[in-house]
This record gives sequence, structure tokens and C-alpha cells, in this order.
Amino acid sequence: MKVPLLDLKAQYRQIEKEIRKAIDGVLESQMFILGETVRSFEEKAAAYCEVPHAVGCASGSDALQLALMALKIGPGDEVITTPFSFYASTSYIVRLGAVPVFADIDPRTFNIDAEKIEAAISEKTKAIMPVHLFGQMAEMVKIMEIAGRHGIPVVEDAAQAIGARYNSRPAGSIGTLGCFSFFPSKNLGAYGDGGLVTTADEKLAERLRSLRMHGEREKYIHHEIGINSRLDALQAAVLETKLPWLDGWSDARRENAETYNKLFQERDLAPGMVVTPHNAESENKRHRHIYNQYTLRAEARDELADFLRNKGIGHAVYYPVPLYLQPCFAFLGHEKGLCPETERAVEEVISLPVYPELTAEQIEQVVAAIAEFYR
Ligand SMILES: *Cc1c(COP(=O)(O)O)cnc(C)c1O
Repeated sequence: MKVPLLDLKAQYRQIEKEIRKAIDGVLESQMFILGETVRSFEEKAAAYCEVPHAVGCASGSDALQLALMALKIGPGDEVITTPFSFYASTSYIVRLGAVPVFADIDPRTFNIDAEKIEAAISEKTKAIMPVHLFGQMAEMVKIMEIAGRHGIPVVEDAAQAIGARYNSRPAGSIGTLGCFSFFPSKNLGAYGDGGLVTTADEKLAERLRSLRMHGEREKYIHHEIGINSRLDALQAAVLETKLPWLDGWSDARRENAETYNKLFQERDLAPGMVVTPHNAESENKRHRHIYNQYTLRAEARDELADFLRNKGIGHAVYYPVPLYLQPCFAFLGHEKGLCPETERAVEEVISLPVYPELTAEQIEQVVAAIAEFYR
């Protein structure tokens, strides 16, 4: 029996009727760009994230770009971020002419190490951009304390973390701006691309609304050079339909992760297996990991991946290369050795199926295969 890394069809079957009705509504309205459907989703998303403002856009990548543009980040500026993430969390810093400054990760959480941020701050630092990797939030209390002391805004890359909490606060509600992605594989996935920026700052929200519409404030009057990045109504209708299901789906992922943890511990699996680490206070109910990925470290990772492939068990390596060693960022001039914990993680991590509809038998099967490999 095969176990896919993700099974979107299983989710679609649960909500098919509702989704078709929502899409039909948009087709009948023939209003595809922004409009009432998008406004309505933005309102619900803002309430879900416990922030005053949410601005839809075309993708999570654009959300990052718009957030940085709203903060007027440009040539000569520096943005502190993690090198262990998806490409987009660094690419828009560079696209806007700014320089990414990399702080290494905490090996327990795979998230930016708050302790390393302070040393990376210079007079040119214009933002700190932590990424809440795999669905677990970075240490936002420490990060906000450092940022506050230096008067630097914080942009949360919460693309993988919608509904995650740190100290009871939801992702995207702590930093100056929060950026979300609705790529289909995220916990809240659209049927295409989509993104969202959250903020408590009304001025920034206004700027975001203008920037996503070519910098327009009144019709055809452009106050600054924006981009075309809007959430379409079809995606907003899908997302609004799915939103009430999101917490249930994320809870199912959390249960699956717990089952893995328990089984791995029970079997006292291969040396080098380390179950997904948590924030230091993981027992603390105020933290909520939403397991967009269930990621662990494994000895002989590449051989394990080959073995799982042959068994038909879905898995992935997020991410195989530190961002500063990506070919496209070579001009930044970084070399191997810059962030040792990231360099270790890229060799060791492997993500396993954790999607909500995964069955207990499937989890057993994955664990049994891994146990067989290490025997
Ligand atoms: C998915 C993702 C993005 C980009 O989102 P898109 O909607 O695919 O553009 C950015 N950062 C992180 C950490 C992501 O996981």
C-alpha cells in the first residue's frame, strides 16, 4: 500500500458540495478580482488571525514582497532572516535591492535562533524576518523584545503557520506584518495561488491595499510604483469555505504527529532518529504547532529517502541547501561554514506524511518501514 506525502483529494471529498456552491456563487456574480467575496474572506481571515487588518494578494511570495515594500525596504537596507527556509523568504529581500543577513537556526526547532539575531543587527538593519518553519512559530517574545529595543519592524513569514500560536498569540499577529501563503499544500490551501498580509497598523494596511493595485489610491492615480497582486474571488470563495475546517484539520495533523512521536519512542528507533523538536516550553499549552510538515532528523538520510521511495512512502527534504549557498545568491559572496546548524540540518532532515486524513494504519506502515531500514 502506498502512502502519499499529501492527499488533497481526500480533503476535497469532505467539502465538495460546499466548494462547488461557493464557486458557483462567484461564477454567477462574474466578479473575479477583489470585490465582495475577497473582502468577506479578508474579514474572516483577520478575525481568525486576531489582527485588525488582512490584505489578500496573489501568493505567499507576493505577501512577503508587499510587506517589505510597505516598510519601504530597498537598496542599502539589510534584513535579518533565516537561511533554512523556502527560497522566497530571501528572494524578495534581494529583489528589492536589500541585503539578506543570515542568522543561524536553533537546532531544536529549525527556526531562527533569537540569540543570534542581536549580533547581526547593524545601523542598516531595516527589518527582521523570522520564518515559522514547518508550522511551529519562532521565539517571537525574544524576537519582539530585541526588535523593540532597536526600533526595527518584524515581518513574520507565516506561510507555513496559519493558526499556529506562540504564547497564546496567533501567527501573523505579533510582528509588524504577517505573511501567509495559500499554496495548495499549506494547511489552508487554495485551488491555485493566493496569499495574505496581516497587520495591526492601519497605515500599513492602507499602503498594502494600494501597493497590490499598482500603487493606486484613486482610480488611475498612482502615488507610488506598486505591483499587480490581488487575490481572486474564486480563490477567496474556496478559502472562506475551508476556513471553518482549518482548526479541525490542523488538530488532526497534531494528533498524527503525536502518534509518530509515540511510535518512534516506543520502538526506540535507530540511533540518530530525533523526533520533531518543539519549542523549549512545548508542554506549555500556549504554544500550538500546526504541523504543516512533520520533520525529523535521520542518520543516513539520503539512503533512508531512497528506501522509502522504493516502498512507495511519500517523503520530502525541506530544504536541501542553505539559502546563502543557492546558485542565484552566489553574488552575495557567502561560503560554506556561515551557519553550521543550518548546514547540518540540510543533511539530516526528512519530512513524512502528516496530512489530516492519514490513517493510523498508514502511520504504522511508515514507522515500520523506517524501523526496517535501520535494522
Ligand atoms: C510556501 C512558502 C512561501 C511562498 O508562498 P507561495 O504562495 O508559494 O508564493 C514563502 N515562505 C515559506 C516559508 C513558504 O513555505
